[in-house]
Amino acid sequence: ETVVNRIAAGEVVQRPANALKELLENCLDAKSTQISVIVKQGGLKILQIQDNGTGIRRSDLGIVCERFTTSKLREFNDLKQISTYGFRGEALASISHVAHLTILTKTKDDQCAWKCTYLDGKPKAPPKPCAGNQGTQITVEDLFYNISIRRKALRSPAEEHARIAEVVSRYAVHNATVGFSLKKQGENSVDLRTPPNSTPEENIRIVFGSAIANELLPISFSDERLQVKCSGLVTNANYSCKRCVMLLFINHRLVDSVGIRKGIEGVYAAYLPKQTHPFIYLSLEIAPQNVDVNVHPTKHEVCFLHEEAIIEAVSKAVDEKLLGANQ
Ligand code: ADP
Ligand code: MG
Repeated sequence: ETVVNRIAAGEVVQRPANALKELLENCLDAKSTQISVIVKQGGLKILQIQDNGTGIRRSDLGIVCERFTTSKLREFNDLKQISTYGFRGEALASISHVAHLTILTKTKDDQCAWKCTYLDGKPKAPPKPCAGNQGTQITVEDLFYNISIRRKALRSPAEEHARIAEVVSRYAVHNATVGFSLKKQGENSVDLRTPPNSTPEENIRIVFGSAIANELLPISFSDERLQVKCSGLVTNANYSCKRCVMLLFINHRLVDSVGIRKGIEGVYAAYLPKQTHPFIYLSLEIAPQNVDVNVHPTKHEVCFLHEEAIIEAVSKAVDEKLLGANQ
């Protein structure tokens, strides 16, 4: 049974950046305003996320790593009402099957923090009282220590670190009111830091540089028939990246959509010389009942209703912006 769970967990968590994404979304669900990430060896040795959110109740610590039992689903009568990031209740469970996972957490009502280490979904021992601030610190150690095949499939720690930085920076742009930091363990300098109460534009400047930030055009529209709201920032047609950089959030979850990417790139093709590409940051809010939330966590590709029409609407909005800025 453990082996089956381990294989299943290895499917959910394919690399450190996947695990980090789930953990970041939990921090955001918990209303954190500051999130700090520390990694060692691209997250394979250590991946640690500290937040200042609500914390986890002592009484929940026994079950948080059990599959599905803690899913936020239980708070909803209807799958269609899901509004928070987490809905599967399997991130912590999966991670605990493929790594050593430790939770240190304190709610505002707790007198002290509680620390608990998990293996295969279960606490190794009852939680221990200890010192700590309000919020939650999750430490993932020796990821994939028990599935060598997964470990071997990964690239170098440097490559995994780059993917982690990519995930942190994208969430930082989209959640600009939250402060983010990323650093390597044992090093004083941070790899990335965004201040709290910032704006997406300012964080794009910090993360991607002022050359891009100076060329941004705002995109914003809503379409009642398609039940979609769109906002974002895209580079003007005179600016170009070596490759298309797209930060796409659908209902605040970082995803990919080849359709949207191609649609927008198609618009720029009329303006930009070949081999040059736009920078795109887009946030789409789609009526929850129109988005397929049942996709596998590793599938970054999303499925949603009216996909063609939404791609067209987004492309049109970008085209109008570029046209307006370049006549
Ligand atoms: P899900 O987010 O789908 O419910 P997870 O396995 O990601 O499942 O998390 C399990 C539960 O643990 C969450 O529902 C939440 O109650 C709690 N939790 C996890 N991370 C945090 C955090 N950083 N702050 C507060 N609660 C957390
Ligand atoms: Mg979650």
